[in-house]
Amino acid sequence: MASKGMSLLWKISIGFVLGIVLGFAVGPMVSDNVVLSGYVMPFLNVVGNIFLTLLKMIIVPLVFSSIVVGAASIGDPKALGRIGIKTLVLYLLTTAVAIVIGLVLGNVIQPGVGMNIAGAVGEARAAKPLLDVMLDIFPANPLDSMIKANMLQIIVFALFVGVAAIFAGEKGKRLVGAFEALAEVMYSMTHMIMNLAPYGVFALIAVTASKYGVAILAPFAKVIAAVYIGCVIHAVVVYSGMIVVFCRRSPLWYFRGIQEASITAFVTRSSSATLPITIANVQENLGVSEGISSFVLPLGATINMDGTALYQGVCALFVAQAFGVELSMSAQISIIVTATLASIGTAGVPGAGLIMLTMVLTSTGLPIEGIGLVAGIDAVLDAMRTCINVTGDTAVCAVVAASEGEKLKA
Ligand code: ASP
Repeated sequence: MASKGMSLLWKISIGFVLGIVLGFAVGPMVSDNVVLSGYVMPFLNVVGNIFLTLLKMIIVPLVFSSIVVGAASIGDPKALGRIGIKTLVLYLLTTAVAIVIGLVLGNVIQPGVGMNIAGAVGEARAAKPLLDVMLDIFPANPLDSMIKANMLQIIVFALFVGVAAIFAGEKGKRLVGAFEALAEVMYSMTHMIMNLAPYGVFALIAVTASKYGVAILAPFAKVIAAVYIGCVIHAVVVYSGMIVVFCRRSPLWYFRGIQEASITAFVTRSSSATLPITIANVQENLGVSEGISSFVLPLGATINMDGTALYQGVCALFVAQAFGVELSMSAQISIIVTATLASIGTAGVPGAGLIMLTMVLTSTGLPIEGIGLVAGIDAVLDAMRTCINVTGDTAVCAVVAASEGEKLKA
């Protein structure tokens, strides 16, 4: 994607802007215009969804084959364990920092203060038990995991296959070779599908902009501002800092290298759908090896959601303020824990974070009706949080690669 990248990016950006303009322009007319509501919008919806579906089509075979190859190519199971621990620690730390940023902004901007909404304030309830989360990552039937696209289970099974292949000697090598070929084919399919991105992006954003109109910028502007500002701070301070300190590269080099993935995440609102592009960007533009990127990135797309965590921090405070609930310091600390768990459990698909927000609200004793408040603007928030979710994966991936002595691109 490197050399053609710029021009494709241009096309995507043009599609994005044209889509917004079209959406805003026709939005108010859609409901009384049969041609728009019956033909144009449904058609755009289908075009956008074909693009999304094509991206989803490659995820399971791409992730499975590339993780098998990645695990096998790291060669030494001890190294794999070391990389795994580093990755998990970095994922958790960056997520916790993101929530703290969200809470600080929620306290400073106070988006919900003065709304005075009446609602049932619930009892504090426990989050999904950690032990269940642990049990859930092991697949009883790996084919079933693939059919359901349960990424965590697919990752676990692929790691087993990769490591077992190392111990199986010659025959193991043959199997890994076959998966290597499959992964190559899936990468080239990614590039084919990316050529459709400008059209897919145009259609998706036109539909969203027409639905929400300029109102997407109005009453909930403060929540939107808090989430957007928080995400930008997180990217500029935390990710840039990690890149400068651990990779000895400039933030510009980094953000330029991963911009296609970030934009695609923003538009598709799905970390999983973006994954093929994330992998391509990190390998081709940052120079991270296949071994590390194919392990770190799919795991990140599944469990590392800094943007979602930050959003949950802001929204929990927003709901508390809107319903007039006082949140103590310890309640805010419990939000850090539950939002971290919730973000791990959030699937990398559009809107998943909103559903997981119910868990954060209930476990903090906040009214579930708060979901109704956030839902109206969730698509706008989802775009930014997904963008940060994906960007965070690439930052951790680059740092892990540098810490393993890999030579990143200049
Ligand atoms: N859409 C987000 C993602 O795919 C998840 C979320 O809804 O927070 O990363």
